[in-house]
Amino acid sequence: MNTSTITDNILSARYLRKGEKTFEDICHRVASALASDEKDRELFYEAMTSLRFLPNSPTLMNAGTEIGQLSACFTLPVPDSIPGIFDAMKQGAVIHKTGGGTGYNFSHIRAEGSPVRSTDGVASGPVSFMKAFNAATDVIKQGGRRRGANMGILNVWHPDILSFITSKKEEGSISNFNISVMVNDEFMTLVRDRKFDEIWIKHPVTGVKVTVGEIWNGIVDGIWKNGEPGVLFYDEINRHNPTPGLGDIDITNPCGEQPLLPFESCVLGSINLAACINEGKFDEELLDDTVRMAVRFLNNVIDANVYPIPEIEEATKKTRKIGLGVMGVHDALLMLKIPYDSPGGRKWCGEIMHRITETAVEESQLLAEKLGTFPEWEKSTWKERKVRNAAMTTVAPTGTISLLAGCSSGIEPVFSFAYTRMNTVGKTFFIVSPVFKEALHSTLSEKGHSGDELKKREEEVIAHVHDTGSIQDLEWLPADFRSLFKTALDISYRDHIEMQAVFQKYVHASISKTINMPNSAERKDCEEALLAAWTLGLKGITIYRTGSRDSVVLSLGNSE
Ligand code: UDP
Repeated sequence: MNTSTITDNILSARYLRKGEKTFEDICHRVASALASDEKDRELFYEAMTSLRFLPNSPTLMNAGTEIGQLSACFTLPVPDSIPGIFDAMKQGAVIHKTGGGTGYNFSHIRAEGSPVRSTDGVASGPVSFMKAFNAATDVIKQGGRRRGANMGILNVWHPDILSFITSKKEEGSISNFNISVMVNDEFMTLVRDRKFDEIWIKHPVTGVKVTVGEIWNGIVDGIWKNGEPGVLFYDEINRHNPTPGLGDIDITNPCGEQPLLPFESCVLGSINLAACINEGKFDEELLDDTVRMAVRFLNNVIDANVYPIPEIEEATKKTRKIGLGVMGVHDALLMLKIPYDSPGGRKWCGEIMHRITETAVEESQLLAEKLGTFPEWEKSTWKERKVRNAAMTTVAPTGTISLLAGCSSGIEPVFSFAYTRMNTVGKTFFIVSPVFKEALHSTLSEKGHSGDELKKREEEVIAHVHDTGSIQDLEWLPADFRSLFKTALDISYRDHIEMQAVFQKYVHASISKTINMPNSAERKDCEEALLAAWTLGLKGITIYRTGSRDSVVLSLGNSE
């Protein structure tokens, strides 16, 4: 069994439409629906069929079909009224039905115990409503093709913050939501200065007080126990808000890579960096051409898109944000023989991401010359440059499209170079990374192994990787081979964070990434990681300690 068998399975389950038999059929439909001219149609088709660029799943599923909803990311406002709350739930249901994920900030809802004037009762608070949204998602399940994903956010200054932080404590509760606390610099400064006894919130009605330490310990404890809540950095997000004139940003999509204004949506697309390597050399020109093509592709999606509700169309077309990202980053590093967790690895990644963003901006400028700037350009920070899109780059999880492309996901290090994967119908597949297999073969040959002995050694190593996930303890393997082929769990959490920071420096929106920690990590490691993330200018952070959860809701390689 190999990767293509899995790919076939994903294709038939998710992307093939009536009358389509092959991946090329899908690419043909998508390219024809989105290209403005024949030349671009060919370029779009070539980039997708060669697996060098893929748009997000909804575009692959719905372009050129009656549904026509092409975006993965949505953010919806939740006002403090019963009709408003249930409007948001309805809007979310419509979005899930067409394959999109929704983010909500529940902070506008009044705190539990506050008065409700019209009924003379007391409010049940944001967490109780989040449970209702969760139940609604269970019912919809995205038309059977994709699971309904939500992000639930609460600001750290909301009086219900403690019950929010512990709302997913029970394994399996509120399972259709990722939850994140939106913290600000003021809070993080108090934490940094260890002012844990400071009163941070006083409930407006009950008068109950909550200290900085109670909240911080709650966050750290939750992360240590089961990887939630995630943490979002409000001030950093808003320091880079491209359209401050349209308001502050306090919402992100489900996996966090897109901080957006209420009702905005964003279409994502990712370039497979491993597919830009020819004969061991990274082809920068090919990358530049791919970036330019991808910007035109994603910009066209904004106009071809069928929007679930008019408010979303209006907000999206005001800023015309697109989300161009990367995948296959670790594969590319391995092919170039640069360790992920090395200064050289970070340098290479920084240079490539810088190049991608600069090229994307140039292409968006060309589009603006032809078609005009995005309508709210004057309310934006793009003073020096007239561009068609308020934001261009991001890093998506690429949970499914990286499987389709057969590359490592997003900017994540490979989880294991040999593993068993179960598909949607319960069949299991044994997968060995081709880059690893090849490098192992030549390393062992160089060490003088040959024939049956070589084969036996190879099998031994692969079985070991499959069972333990690592080669770091196989000391007889050469040191440079071992330091190159480190996996997500071999790499220290500090190196994970530093890699995210390098990308964040050059990415307009945000980054979806999991900071992996070994099972033995302690609470103080989680604290240190959160503080490092804030100091290094990340917009958000997700930490996961191995084995701390029975099942993972929406994580990499596990999005089926
Ligand atoms: N998403 C979703 N449901 C899913 C997976 C993803 O709604 O089951 C949304 C979510 O907003 C996420 C975005 O799609 O942040 C991109 O996810 P990913 O890159 O994994 O999607 P792919 O295009 O690879 O399917």
